[in-house]
Amino acid sequence: MGKVHNLSVKQGGLEDGREMVPEAAGEVSAVDEAILQLLKERQQVVSPISETPDAELKRIVERGKALGLDSSRVMRVFRELVGNGNKSGQARVQLASRDYKSEDTVIEVRGVKFGGNNFVVIGGPCAVESYDQIAECAKHLRLSGGHALRGGCFKARTSPYSFQGLGFEGLDYLVQAGSEYNLPIITEVLAHDDVEAVAQKADILQIGARNMQNFILLKAVGRSNRPVMLKRGMSSSIEELLLAAEYVLAQGNQEVILCERGIRTFETSTRNTLDLSAVPVLRSKTHLPIIVDPSHAAGRRDLVPPLAKAAKAVGAQGLMIEFHPSPEDALSDGPQALTFAQFETLLKELQGL
Ligand code: PEP
Ligand code: MN
Repeated sequence: MGKVHNLSVKQGGLEDGREMVPEAAGEVSAVDEAILQLLKERQQVVSPISETPDAELKRIVERGKALGLDSSRVMRVFRELVGNGNKSGQARVQLASRDYKSEDTVIEVRGVKFGGNNFVVIGGPCAVESYDQIAECAKHLRLSGGHALRGGCFKARTSPYSFQGLGFEGLDYLVQAGSEYNLPIITEVLAHDDVEAVAQKADILQIGARNMQNFILLKAVGRSNRPVMLKRGMSSSIEELLLAAEYVLAQGNQEVILCERGIRTFETSTRNTLDLSAVPVLRSKTHLPIIVDPSHAAGRRDLVPPLAKAAKAVGAQGLMIEFHPSPEDALSDGPQALTFAQFETLLKELQGL
């Protein structure tokens, strides 16, 4: 290994005495040639070592950090390398894991902090329906002490005949309402083709439950420079949720928020079953912020306040709650939307917990 530390590059050759292959000189830069030589050396030295790739990768990433190198890039490069010395070709340290990063990730969006000891409430209607509707919601969210404004513009509806959202027109209303009341905005992006355009306007990109394993979409938001809130698929395990987050992180976007929103079970008295145990499980496995959406879990407004409080009690770092100026007239998810008064009361009660 000594050779590796002493290696430096000069034009036309390597200072440790090794010569560049003649045909490579002039075609491959001296630095790249040195990297190739190191790779060859590493393959010879490292493959017989039976150490687990996880422990090794973790040390390499830590060392890279100390050298001022970007952790996710070091991770990507070395995952390949360590994978070569490992028959399965797979390294198992995940960027989302506490093994990779022990301290909580805190994501700051226009002054609002997600993760760590912060507790954030995202609120708003299921769908943006008009400028007046979203502006009324933004005003009420501000008055009630909420932190970020939600509103669906591209709706992933189970039926193609249900309201599909106002699209980019709705997004403009959401942007306007957010800036008027100084609230960061979050909206769902449905298609990878839309990521760039939505990312230009929204502060946080939401990936909905139905798209949790849309890997092309996950890679696209992973290349964007906006934080991503990833909702758990309705039939997905916690491990699958973490691997979906990994798709985003592996592209270089380190700002991922996870959202538990209920899963499909045999139980029919609620829309989904809120998996509250996912919260402490995730808190122990990952450094990423975890928030809970009791609205889509319950599907009934009367159950939203108790589930919201329970979520906070088990360690969620925030909530996403739907409310509407007139739930009975809502174009989507009316039965689970809180009234303005109920939302305000819930936020007051949460403060006491
Ligand atoms: C939403 O939050 O607007 C939504 C559609 O939720 P989910 O993807 O969890 O069903
Ligand atoms: Mn909804």
